[in-house]
Amino acid sequence: MDDTTRDELLRLFESKLKRAAKLYLETCSRCGVCVSACHVYASMPQAKYIAAYRAEIVRRIYKRYFTKKGRFWKSLGESKELSELALSELYEAAYSCTGCRRCMVFCPFGIDTQLIMSIAKLLLIGAHAEPEILSLLADTSVAKGESLEIFREGFLESIKTLENEVVERWRVEAGQTPIPVDQKGADLLYVALAGAHSIVPAAVVFNAAKENWTLSFFEAVNFGAFVGDPVKTRQILDRIVNEARRLGVKEVVICECGTAFRVMKSMAKNEPFKVSSITEVHARYIREGRIKLRKNTLEGTVTYHDPCQLARNGGVMDEPRFILRALTDDFAEMSPDPVMNWCCGGGGGLVAMGEDTLDFRMKSASVKADQVKKTGAKILATACENCHTQLSNLNDHYQMGVDVRFLSSMVADALE
Ligand code: SF4
Ligand code: SF4
Repeated sequence: MDDTTRDELLRLFESKLKRAAKLYLETCSRCGVCVSACHVYASMPQAKYIAAYRAEIVRRIYKRYFTKKGRFWKSLGESKELSELALSELYEAAYSCTGCRRCMVFCPFGIDTQLIMSIAKLLLIGAHAEPEILSLLADTSVAKGESLEIFREGFLESIKTLENEVVERWRVEAGQTPIPVDQKGADLLYVALAGAHSIVPAAVVFNAAKENWTLSFFEAVNFGAFVGDPVKTRQILDRIVNEARRLGVKEVVICECGTAFRVMKSMAKNEPFKVSSITEVHARYIREGRIKLRKNTLEGTVTYHDPCQLARNGGVMDEPRFILRALTDDFAEMSPDPVMNWCCGGGGGLVAMGEDTLDFRMKSASVKADQVKKTGAKILATACENCHTQLSNLNDHYQMGVDVRFLSSMVADALE
């Protein structure tokens, strides 16, 4: 690696050295408590998959270039040169970590491996060594925000084709516009993913609850966050923030996408609107009597997979259980404590990387498959698109014999 590239990468590293990052990089006592916390290590026990081991690669580069000892006595201590070899180690560490933060719950110092891996991801971007597909997807999202007029008509036409489906499933309150788009004065802006499965059930429930809502032009998923690019993460987020401001909504509701929810919740704290997940909104409608669900129409035991970004990292744990108890008396927990639930193994951009990561995703999440099988459930509900894809892949691979369902669809299907 030439000096110019290294200097540029070190500048990127420095940009991430806020108080929390420094604390995490300077703290690990190597107690080993996090060893068994990571689903990757628990499924494939190799040292490179230990949370502290991943972080140590970044930590040693930090020691080499950002501490006095490392700068003056390069050969002393546990420091690491930033080299091509180090970059390949960073890639393996960062793209075998889903950012689920289960290790953080175990660590006595609360060290956030996901945050340390975000430094690794930024260095990979700086070296043009990140997964190309994630940057391409992020660029596409940014471009859509910059030239909405080009996409506008096509989007509105595709939404029109979905409206019949909404009316078929919920006629009464659907009214003139079963899927309102770009409505100033709406109370709620719903941000979906591309595809009818993310729009139709949500529209059905909003209309049943007589919500004054409107659909966003933009898809919720934030590929900037997956690839660890802070600039693109902000640009992708701002498309929705600006739309919400323009329409004057009181609440932005994120569809079943855990990362999109966590990013919006944490980065739009000071906006004049509240941020909710669709799971929270559905629980609220049931509590307030705005929708009623038919109970016990589901066949067999139901279990629920907590998406890491929604539950452990987003605090949405009670609401899905409240919804499920309104749907069935036959609900089985996977883990005594939802905070400790195993990651599905598909986060951090791994599912978006598709077939390239399939083999690793299957091998690294065998503990998740075992956890699901132990419940004896016939229906595996979840509230995240990424998790749904990964759990469906696991279902096929490990013959789990479950029906993987979106919680929002289960609500729409059970409307009285
Ligand atoms: S954040 Fe999750 S995947 Fe990453 S090291 Fe920690 S437990 Fe493992
Ligand atoms: S639990 Fe925390 S302090 Fe202990 S080895 Fe893991 S990261 Fe380091």
